[in-house]
Amino acid sequence: MLTCEIVSVGTELLLGDILDTNAQYLSQQLAAMGIAVLHRATVGDNAARLAETVRDALSRSDIVLLTGGLGPTADDLTKEVCADVMGFALERDAQTVEEIRAFFQKRGMPMPESNLKQADLPVGATVFPNSNGTAPGAAMERGGKCVILLPGPPNEMRAMFEQSVQPFLRQKTTGVIVSHTVRTMGIGESALAERVAPLLAGSNPTVAPYAKQGEAMLRITAHADTPQDAEALIEPVLRQIRGTVGEYIYGIDVEDIQHAVVQALRERGLHLATAESCTAGYISKRITEVPGASDVFDCGLVTYSNEMKEKLLSVRHETLQAHGAVSTETAMEMAAGALRVSGADIAVAVTGVAGPGCSEQKSVGLVFIGLADADGVTAVKLETGRTDREYNRYVTASRALHLVWQRLQKM
Ligand code: ATP
Ligand code: MG
Repeated sequence: MLTCEIVSVGTELLLGDILDTNAQYLSQQLAAMGIAVLHRATVGDNAARLAETVRDALSRSDIVLLTGGLGPTADDLTKEVCADVMGFALERDAQTVEEIRAFFQKRGMPMPESNLKQADLPVGATVFPNSNGTAPGAAMERGGKCVILLPGPPNEMRAMFEQSVQPFLRQKTTGVIVSHTVRTMGIGESALAERVAPLLAGSNPTVAPYAKQGEAMLRITAHADTPQDAEALIEPVLRQIRGTVGEYIYGIDVEDIQHAVVQALRERGLHLATAESCTAGYISKRITEVPGASDVFDCGLVTYSNEMKEKLLSVRHETLQAHGAVSTETAMEMAAGALRVSGADIAVAVTGVAGPGCSEQKSVGLVFIGLADADGVTAVKLETGRTDREYNRYVTASRALHLVWQRLQKM
């Protein structure tokens, strides 16, 4: 399997002025092509440090891909440094000079003389035309190693990658990489990793756990000659994962829990309604992020005050008096009220203390989620253990969506 490293060049990247989206794009593209990206580095516009980084990368990997620093100014030195490291001479290329002149002519702009520096190309390199700019890219090959130069501006870099670099690399690679993401909720990342521990030691496919705001995931990645072969390697591992932690899995390769909920509702031809207190619309916001949510989502009520809980959802005054707004009883009456008012098939309601301060002498992060459908009303208690308001609201919405999803599996 070919190995590769990405070097992003530019002081503005190091300063945090711009985000390195080129490296993300290239990582995704290379992985999809079956080329293993082993390291990524960011270097400023400094010749000595850039040369050191490129030499390091070449000592480990077959291919080094660089983006940035192909421009006409003095701080653009990627080509000069890489040609020197690879032992390639630079020579002004007459055809490229003409192309640069034509680029400016077409736009009715005078050409700065400094732009001609971009026509200096490494002799013997494969040159990649730039369909969105003036700086051509290049690939310099020597001793089984390859250095590829790409421009920094993302639109130029992407076009060049797709039009020229991808076909160039395809000739060198065999095989594909296929990966699937198993999404779970209700189990922490470390507990999940422990349960599937024997699988984490595998090398093809690899299984890697990772966590994201209240969720844990497993990414399974296989390398093989064809997509079918890769799927065949993944299949038994996926079966084992389902066997061990199946109860927590809400989807494979689904974007998020709201997509899973909308899909489950659509498959069953059912409609959802929400009643939200502490999340104040977060659940309906997430549901409606999914295109086509209108087919399954009827109504989202935000009842922040006790008065509105009574008025819009018919939560009983006595319930609020006796148990408070943050209680199992209120959550259940809110869910029942939302179901009644909307005429939906299933309703979810949340009431809790988002924080950072507490209310009703109840602890921060305490939430009750009510669920109502034709079979009755239930509620669950959630304790996030955190005082972070945004986190509590997000995780409450996630858990509410997950409860809906779990209920739908039985409908
Ligand atoms: P130019 O001819 O524009 O100077 P260049 O090849 O020299 O092109 P840079 O000077 O390094 O490229 O970057 C030009 C612009 O491209 C940056 O200001 C930035 O907006 C964008 N850019 C550069 N590198 C990246 C990157 N890694 N990710 C996203 N954007 C980038
Ligand atoms: Mg530049």
